[in-house]
Amino acid sequence: MTQTRAAGRHFLQIPGPTNVPDRVLRAIDNPTIDHRGPEFGRMGLELLANLKAIFQTSGPVMIYPASGTGAWEAALTNTLSPGDTVLMCQTGWFATLWKEMAERLQLNPVLIATDWRRGADVPAISAALLDDKAHRIKAVCVVHNETSTGCTSRIDEVHAVIEAAKHPALLMVDTISSLASIDYRHDEWGVDVTVAGSQKGLMLPPGLSFNAISERALTASKTAKLPRSYWDWRPMLEANKTGYFPYTPGTNLLFGLHEAVKMLREEGLPNVFARHDRHAEATRRAVRTWGLDIQCAEPRHYSSSLTAVRVPDGHSADALRATILEKYNMSLGNGLGILKDRVFRIGHLGDFGDLQLVGTLGGVEMGLRVAGVPHNAGGVQAAVDYLAGNA
Ligand SMILES: *Cc1c(COP(=O)(O)O)cnc(C)c1O
Repeated sequence: MTQTRAAGRHFLQIPGPTNVPDRVLRAIDNPTIDHRGPEFGRMGLELLANLKAIFQTSGPVMIYPASGTGAWEAALTNTLSPGDTVLMCQTGWFATLWKEMAERLQLNPVLIATDWRRGADVPAISAALLDDKAHRIKAVCVVHNETSTGCTSRIDEVHAVIEAAKHPALLMVDTISSLASIDYRHDEWGVDVTVAGSQKGLMLPPGLSFNAISERALTASKTAKLPRSYWDWRPMLEANKTGYFPYTPGTNLLFGLHEAVKMLREEGLPNVFARHDRHAEATRRAVRTWGLDIQCAEPRHYSSSLTAVRVPDGHSADALRATILEKYNMSLGNGLGILKDRVFRIGHLGDFGDLQLVGTLGGVEMGLRVAGVPHNAGGVQAAVDYLAGNA
């Protein structure tokens, strides 16, 4: 008899969307309210104020009813004009998509490439800025955590070279898979526009995205000439003053966000970051024990939200993922772009505890064996030893 149901809970271990905690699901599961009524305004004000701490900013954070891609577009169209040069760091698939969007918006992206095995090339950014005496570069765009490779760029260092070059370019950072998982400081790191999304570290379903902005970004928006309407910051900031939105917001997702922010505050952001660092280290120990390669080749750039693992030549990462889904009811991330079928990605971000990690790594190790991918046993044990030894 063919089986159409797998018992037990599905393990959603792709690096976003992540597992949505029950508390967030319960919060979303409430009657939709009038988004122009007083109850909504009270929640809106509280939520918009509480969100700032997650971005480590004292400035405004705007919320769009859109996936992260929408917030990319908002960042570019609110601050730039047609033909503007933007320096973009091609760290992987998501950075490439952002660059393609910039081209479609008639910007002029200048690329700094990598081999997709490390974060943004900070010395190359520095050189490009020092070279640009005429200040043609209007923005530097960096993906903080490149979800296709599991490499995290050093935004503090990018900020330092922009300062050192005394260059007026805006700094824009995509934190879609790092916010609320990896330490990120909008104000301290001099970021002008932070882009974020709901379905990764924030533990929500997909459907919300964010722009946190600096004073300088706001000033730039006053003279920016790219057409913008839906994404325009001005009506958003105006309505947000009283807790409302210029158009119908994702009301029930906002209920969920309110709860998720509460949960992050209860755990404490430093503890949230430490938990992700610890799970990432345990995962890498398992991968090394298996004798497989970690896609990120630069330990300073290891991601704490996901680990991309290379399969040995002649083996298929997608076949392995299909086996793991079929046998163990677990979804892992696929290889994107040039990494298609070469890597699988283990998401260890969001609402995630030690036992879920051990279960996840157990599923990978069993999958490697069943799919016939050469490896050494004992990866799960290495992770258990690390977790139990660093309680
Ligand atoms: C997921 C992701 C995106 C894309 O966001 P969508 O919500 O799919 O539009 C962009 N950048 C990074 C770094 C991501 O992880």
